[in-house]
Amino acid sequence: MIPRQFEYHAPQSVPDAIALLQKYGDTAKLLAGGHSLLPMMKIRFAVPEHLVDLGKIADLRGIREKGKELRIGAMTTENELIWSAIVQKQCPLLVEAARLIGDPQVRYKGTLGGDISHGDPGNDHPAIMLALGASFVLAGSDGERVVAADDFFLGLYDTALAPDEVLTEIRIPAMAKGTGWCYAKLKRKTGDFATAAAAVLLTMKRDTVKEVSIALTNAGETALKAREAEDSLRGNKLDDAAIAEAARLVMSISATRRLISAAALSTRSR
Ligand SMILES: Cc1cc2nc3c(=O)[nH]c(=O)nc-3n(C[C@H](O)[C@H](O)[C@H](O)COP(=O)(O)OP(=O)(O)OC[C@H]3O[C@@H](n4cnc5c(N)ncnc54)[C@H](O)[C@@H]3O)c2cc1C
Repeated sequence: MIPRQFEYHAPQSVPDAIALLQKYGDTAKLLAGGHSLLPMMKIRFAVPEHLVDLGKIADLRGIREKGKELRIGAMTTENELIWSAIVQKQCPLLVEAARLIGDPQVRYKGTLGGDISHGDPGNDHPAIMLALGASFVLAGSDGERVVAADDFFLGLYDTALAPDEVLTEIRIPAMAKGTGWCYAKLKRKTGDFATAAAAVLLTMKRDTVKEVSIALTNAGETALKAREAEDSLRGNKLDDAAIAEAARLVMSISATRRLISAAALSTRSR
């Protein structure tokens, strides 16, 4: 299908983009890499009358370090993350996840800010952001606010972004020295979204878990943080029994698992 007609705007600054969002209200949509929005427009799931392209706003690009934090402009693409020496050094989990996103075309155009703002539980960055304890700078007509990833993903395609707000920057604490990481993504073939995926950060003190962070992709209406599983591991010895119990607690929060359990219970009670 062909998207319905729209008017194209290319503001040069964040305040100009916000002014356009205010002017056109819910008939306007921000455009970043377009790799989620344009497919939705083609099937007319999204029918904006005004597209506000963030591509000409230089302030939304770039990766820098501020203290122990990485600060990444929302329009930074997946490939820019993958190729960044700073990200490779300070946050290798982000590089590992970005490498697994879509195909080369998606990674050339798709942006970190767009992946987060879309609010799709099948996207990889929401769980990565939860696992890393990231926060997001949102700029709107009332100024800027910083929202923790924990408070940002509200539901299916629903985030804490107000209609006139732009996600401008992603702030990620550098991974502590000695932290191990993994993003395990199950997908049917190269280029697919995750059937399900898990991000894990683990810091050990000898054979005891000092700190752990676990987040899940595509296991519910939003990315999920597996807090009970984390609590079961933190401060304890990491042996096979502890890992099995943590895996059980992780699976218990997945919506699919809850549906299967509910179906099994109702079958048994018949
Ligand atoms: C074939 C294919 C495979 C894919 N595979 C994966 C995958 O494996 N993993 C994965 O995570 N994603 C995948 N994607 C999605 C891809 O990563 C998208 O690029 C991403 O979801 C959206 O980023 P974008 O820059 O393209 O944003 P857009 O599509 O331009 O925008 C998405 C939404 O976010 C809003 N938005 C964008 N930027 C901002 C901002 N700065 N502030 C506020 N709102 C904003 C837009 O208004 C829109 O509603 C795939 C896409 C395709 C087409």
